[in-house]
Amino acid sequence: MERYDIAIIGTGPAGLEAALTARARNKSILLVGSKALSDRVSKAHEILNYLGLPKISGEAMAEVFKKQIAEANIEITEGKVMYAYPMSDYFALQVDFTDEILEATTVILATGLAKTKGLPGEDKLLGSGVSYCATCDAQFYRGKRTIVLGYTPKEEAEADFLSEIAAEVLYFPQYKDEVHTNEKVRVIKEIPVEIIGGMKAEALKTDAATYETDGIFILRESIAPDKMVPGLALKDGHVDVDLNMATNIPGCFAAGDITGTPYQYIKAAGQGNVAALSAVDYISHH
Ligand SMILES: Cc1cc2nc3c(=O)[nH]c(=O)nc-3n(C[C@H](O)[C@H](O)[C@H](O)COP(=O)(O)OP(=O)(O)OC[C@H]3O[C@@H](n4cnc5c(N)ncnc54)[C@H](O)[C@@H]3O)c2cc1C
Repeated sequence: MERYDIAIIGTGPAGLEAALTARARNKSILLVGSKALSDRVSKAHEILNYLGLPKISGEAMAEVFKKQIAEANIEITEGKVMYAYPMSDYFALQVDFTDEILEATTVILATGLAKTKGLPGEDKLLGSGVSYCATCDAQFYRGKRTIVLGYTPKEEAEADFLSEIAAEVLYFPQYKDEVHTNEKVRVIKEIPVEIIGGMKAEALKTDAATYETDGIFILRESIAPDKMVPGLALKDGHVDVDLNMATNIPGCFAAGDITGTPYQYIKAAGQGNVAALSAVDYISHH
C-alpha cells in the first residue's frame, strides 16, 4: 500500500494552503475533507481582510480556492478522518470512506474549531459500544439495536446505511433541517444528555426519555483533536504548537483555527504554509 508523505486533514484555508505548498515541494499528499471545502468559508457574507481578494463573498472565495486547487492537480478525498494513530515512524489513519487503514509519514491537522464537548459517559465508553464511524463499525451491530446522533444532515446517509445491517436504528437529529431518512430509521427529535453503561454502552438518556441500545454512533462534523490523535497536547482547548506548527507528537503538525485565536482566513492559510514546510523538513531528516 502507498504510504503518503503528508496526510492533510481538513479543506479550509489551512488545509488547502498546506496542500498547495506540499505539492509545490513534490510530496505525495492525501487531502481529506469536503469537495465543497469549508462551511466557514462559503457561509461568510463578505470578507474584507484577505490579501489579494478584496471585498469578496465567502462563496466567491470558495470558488477561487477550488479553481486553484484543481489547477494544481490536487485531489480532494471526500470524507472524514476518525483517528490518526502515531506509530513508530508513520501514522495509521482510520477514515470513513474505506475499511483500509491508510498510512502517512506525517500528518497536518487542519480541521478547524472543534465545536462540541462530549456527552457524559462518551469518553469512558468510546470503543465499548460508542463509535464515531458507521462505515468502520456497522459490522459489529448486525441484527442489533443502534442509536445514531446526527449533528449534520450528511449523517442521514449513515443512518440509512446502518439500517441495512442493524435490527433497529433510532436517529436523533441535532439540527433544524427537515430529516430525510428511509422508513426503517425511526427519527426522534430529542436532545441527548448522557450515555449510560458500565463495561459497555447500554442506553441513551435524552431530555425526555431513556432508550436501551447495543451501540451509539456519535456523528459530529468535527472530532476533538486529542481524540483523533491520542496523546496530542492541548493548551486552553486548542492544539499546542510551536512556531513551526509542530505539536508534541513527532511528525504531527497543526494549522488554522485548531491552534487557537485569532480565527482568521489569512492566519489559517499562513499556518498551513508553515506546517507543510515543516512536514517537508521533517521528512528529509527521517
Ligand atoms: C460566518 C463567518 C464569517 C467569517 N468571516 C471572516 C472574515 O471576514 N475574515 C476572516 O479572516 N475570518 C473570518 N471567519 C473565520 C474563518 O472562517 C476561519 O478562521 C477559517 O475558516 C479557519 O480556517 P481553517 O482552515 O482553520 O478551518 P475551517 O475553515 O473551519 O476548515 C476546516 C475543515 O476541516 C474539515 N474537517 C473537520 N474535521 C474533519 C475530519 N475529521 N476529517 C476531514 N475533514 C475534517 C471541515 O469539514 C472543514 O472543511 C469567519 C467565520 C465565519 C463562521
